[in-house]
Amino acid sequence: MIQEKRLVDQFADYVAIDSPSLHERQLADIIKRQLEQMGFSVSEDKAGEAIGGDCGNVYALLPGSLDLPPILFSGHFDTVEPSRGKRAVVHDNGLITSGGDTVLGADDLAALTAILEAIRSLQEEGKPHRPVELLITVAEEKHLLGSRHLEPERLTAREAYVLDTDGEPGLAINRAPGNINMVFKIRGKAAHAGMKPEEGISAITVAAKGIAAMRLGRLDDETTANIGEIKGGQATNIVAEHCIVTSECRSQTWDKMKEQADHMCDCMRQAADELGAELEIERVVSYYPYSVEAESPVLVRFQKACGELGLPFKTMGGGGGSDNNELVRHGIEGLVLATGMRNCHSTQEQIETKHLVQMANLVEKLILLP
Ligand SMILES: [Zn+2]
Repeated sequence: MIQEKRLVDQFADYVAIDSPSLHERQLADIIKRQLEQMGFSVSEDKAGEAIGGDCGNVYALLPGSLDLPPILFSGHFDTVEPSRGKRAVVHDNGLITSGGDTVLGADDLAALTAILEAIRSLQEEGKPHRPVELLITVAEEKHLLGSRHLEPERLTAREAYVLDTDGEPGLAINRAPGNINMVFKIRGKAAHAGMKPEEGISAITVAAKGIAAMRLGRLDDETTANIGEIKGGQATNIVAEHCIVTSECRSQTWDKMKEQADHMCDCMRQAADELGAELEIERVVSYYPYSVEAESPVLVRFQKACGELGLPFKTMGGGGGSDNNELVRHGIEGLVLATGMRNCHSTQEQIETKHLVQMANLVEKLILLP
């Protein structure tokens, strides 16, 4: 059984440990030890060294007695500032707040607390269960720095629940757009615009031709593209040698997003070739998109768990990036679950005890359902 007092005490203990982004070592060591005592095999990657932090992402696997594929639960160690000296104030009505001068750190310590309590409960009752895998990342709050460096070969689960969004338990983010950024650097040839324009190659004309050929704006209900900024040229009497164009495209489907980015790059390349200019393209995937269908096992299981626990099941689209946007690129299908935390990233951050309890029950239920 989920034990409320143990859960709240554990949450308060985690909150009392400072774990701002890139300084997660103390908290991670404590949780690693706890997981080992619970029978997990625990490992840590080298993300900390790569990103200038004192700790890597932590992976843990608890073998199961049921011959079912493992499922993954994920959260992050780090909190935003102001966090130094933070503490959990538990009010009589069950509300848990910070002291008022720091964040509480329910984002994402509520997740870690709920996951550990669920496992404790399972083990006390000796219930047969599937293998459980955990991924606890560092520096999530620094644009997913930790998960961007995760080592996917350490993970065996193909289904994941990332406990890391606000809203009441029962809510899942099942889709979020990805984003590709492109910078086109065009180099033409300068010439006097009045005396020898035929000797010049206008980088601005190349940019204009390239952009004019692009499909932009809203392309379908889940795909968009935009030109963000154009910089180029020096003076009216010089054929512009340089022009830089920044752009992006977004979609909830990877293939569409990649296709659109290819299209934009092709348009600009063709314009550059036609006019004899040089083109350099910087293309970066900022976020990978995901979209989990209603019949997908990870969502079916979540809906069933909510139903059995009487939680209001709801799905919605998300806007920003989360560790789930990184998991998807490694072939893991995941949902981002609301944990009950509120007013995150502020000193007014809070969570209700009943939501912590609901989350622990939810994790336990997700592990037990086939
Ligand atoms: Zn978070």
